[in-house]
Amino acid sequence: MTAPLEPFDVDVVVVGGGQAGLAAAWHLRRQGLRFLVLEAAGELGHTWRTRWESLRLFTPAEHDALPGLPFPAPAGTYPGKDAVAEYLRDYAAAFALPVELGARVTGLRRTDGGFQLSTADRTYVARQVIVATGPFQTPFVPPLSAGLDDSVLQLHSAEYRSPDALPEGPTVVIGGGNSGFQIALELAATRPVDLSVGSAYPALPQRLLGRSLFWWLTRSGLMRVPVDSRLGRRLQARETLIGTGRRGLQRAGVRFRPRLVDVEGRTLRFADGSSREASVVVWATGYRFHHSWIDVPGVLRDGRVVHTRGITEVPGLYFLGLPWQSTRGSALLGFVADDAAHIAARVARTAAGMHSGQVLRSVQDVR
Ligand SMILES: Cc1cc2nc3c(=O)[nH]c(=O)nc-3n(C[C@H](O)[C@H](O)[C@H](O)COP(=O)(O)OP(=O)(O)OC[C@H]3O[C@@H](n4cnc5c(N)ncnc54)[C@H](O)[C@@H]3O)c2cc1C
Repeated sequence: MTAPLEPFDVDVVVVGGGQAGLAAAWHLRRQGLRFLVLEAAGELGHTWRTRWESLRLFTPAEHDALPGLPFPAPAGTYPGKDAVAEYLRDYAAAFALPVELGARVTGLRRTDGGFQLSTADRTYVARQVIVATGPFQTPFVPPLSAGLDDSVLQLHSAEYRSPDALPEGPTVVIGGGNSGFQIALELAATRPVDLSVGSAYPALPQRLLGRSLFWWLTRSGLMRVPVDSRLGRRLQARETLIGTGRRGLQRAGVRFRPRLVDVEGRTLRFADGSSREASVVVWATGYRFHHSWIDVPGVLRDGRVVHTRGITEVPGLYFLGLPWQSTRGSALLGFVADDAAHIAARVARTAAGMHSGQVLRSVQDVR
């Protein structure tokens, strides 16, 4: 029998090795802190790799870089999702960031000196923890989906890969956000598609007067409008469609329907009294957070993280990559670095206060 592994002791643990976790790691390194990134998947970039095949970024390459390493694509181009996955993998390698793969954190609790984190086969202790597990965690499908006949193929946008992976026949996409619009447009090339939109969002083109939309948003200061300002509160209340508008979809043959109100057998009914039989239903109905593994009182209220710019009321516990954590850019590749720098600076200040005189083992020492 092998002896159980000693708890792995480190100053800071970052949970999640997506863009937010890696940006945090870069800034922690810069602050001279000893840390470890725990990533559930077996490879970096996993979140991007498993998104649908034709997905291209709506942010141009010059706005897709994490701190310290330009995105390897010409400015003004819109990289595909696999290019992002490769960039994240190469990013961690370029800076030799300490990442444990296949390490899903299943428990986080407070201890006297900080926190204890558990994975399937190991315990970690850390003075401070940054949770960077992503803004899109558990796919949400409305309960009325249960009323659809078994002969209708139902899938969430998180499971959608390509049109040829779906059976033929009339398809209804539910959800008027960017994912719903993009998937409906792609499917319309090969089948009749209806798109049910509950709330209509404003649409913006990807390029305006020869410049990218993100050039204008950055230049005008809109990307950095604080979440707690009047304008910030108004902006975060509404998603913006980028690059795909209603007219483009109508030209491609997509039929718009209002909010879905009921289903029965193979039939879906909409708020205007119209209905549609479907062979396939794609639920582009968003995600919910999955924070049940966090057993730390005072962090979550009604399932939401209580924080100010990612800093919770529990000393030493932080979040990174939340939508609108501080600005519109908080959950975007090229902008998450601002929040990462803010959190890392706070972690460093707290560490300096906590450990004056105390000697801790480093990640390198333990390995
Ligand atoms: C369809 C779609 C298109 C998008 N397009 C763009 C775009 O064009 N430009 C842009 O800037 N942004 C875009 N985004 C938004 C955003 O950049 C992505 O959602 C991005 O993946 C968020 O990065 P993240 O690091 O915060 O989270 P994630 O990429 O989700 O990474 C979180 C990581 O944490 C790991 N993890 C989760 N739970 C645990 C746990 N308990 N223990 C250990 N590890 C865990 C996961 O395996 C994952 O690797 C898009 C999002 C979607 C859904």
